[in-house]
Amino acid sequence: MRSLKLAVIGDPIAHTLSPQIHHAIAGKLGVDCSYTAHHVPLAQLESFVEMVRREGFDGFNITIPHKQNIIPYLAGLDPYAASCGAVNTVRIQDGNLYGYNTDGDGLKAALAAHGIHLGERKVLLLGAGGAALSICRKAVETGAEVHLLCRDPRKAAAFRGPHVTIGAMDRAGLCWGASQADLLINATPLGMSGIPDDFTDLSFLDGFSGAVCDIVYKPAETTLFRESRQRGLLAMNGLGMLIYQAVYAFSIFLGESFDLDEMAAHVTKVMEQSLYGG
Ligand code: NAP
Repeated sequence: MRSLKLAVIGDPIAHTLSPQIHHAIAGKLGVDCSYTAHHVPLAQLESFVEMVRREGFDGFNITIPHKQNIIPYLAGLDPYAASCGAVNTVRIQDGNLYGYNTDGDGLKAALAAHGIHLGERKVLLLGAGGAALSICRKAVETGAEVHLLCRDPRKAAAFRGPHVTIGAMDRAGLCWGASQADLLINATPLGMSGIPDDFTDLSFLDGFSGAVCDIVYKPAETTLFRESRQRGLLAMNGLGMLIYQAVYAFSIFLGESFDLDEMAAHVTKVMEQSLYGG
């Protein structure tokens, strides 16, 4: 039986779903897997890296705030991760660390599972944080046009480039953007459980006839998701992206491919039960 010694790091890390998702993947593949969550403040990142080398870990996932901080420790960086300036998956081979970012492929595969091909789309992307940048890079790489809206366009310098336009996320920006796009992706935390902010005016959806992807996955039905469905739009939440990015990460750790869609369907059942109770 193959065995893998894996981890996830972040600060905070208490609410991570990664151990549950990766154990579900390993169980289905018959891989003997230990996957542990580690609270790693920035000052302890170097000693964590020394520990995983010493203890023979096969790899680890990374969440906020270390997706950029890990880069100086890497012996190699995948070109897409380099273009995002962020790493969410590290494979360790012979004591060397190699960085990848599976968020973009995760989103692309989750969309494809709903019949949506990212590369053919005019995307209205909301938010200019780390998740939005990964999505923007993957969208452009696959041939999409992106119109990015954020609260402060001055913060969106990293997004500038061919096939990307940038505007302010106000009512006029949302209405105009929605009228031009055929895929809306929310990559802000608006509507997420535990934060006070949510969309207050979704009337911009009245001029929209495409698909809606909210990368927030808790709750299962955000205000954006619910109002999109009520308008008869195809809508999906962020659980698919979360699961597919983990499935891609596991195939990197394993160094082997497997049926990613079949695996994602299996893990989705496990996580829907765990997160939403049904
Ligand atoms: P981040 O780096 O903190 O970026 C958040 C972005 O949202 C920033 O552009 C921020 O703008 C904007 N924002 C925050 N509050 C806002 C508001 N009230 N109105 C308008 N814009 C607002 O976070 P992230 O890592 O990109 O994650 C964003 C969301 O995606 C989170 O909810 C996260 O849980 C979710 N996510 C899901 C997946 C998945 O697999 N499904 C993966 C990654 C992230 P400012 O810079 O102006 O604050």
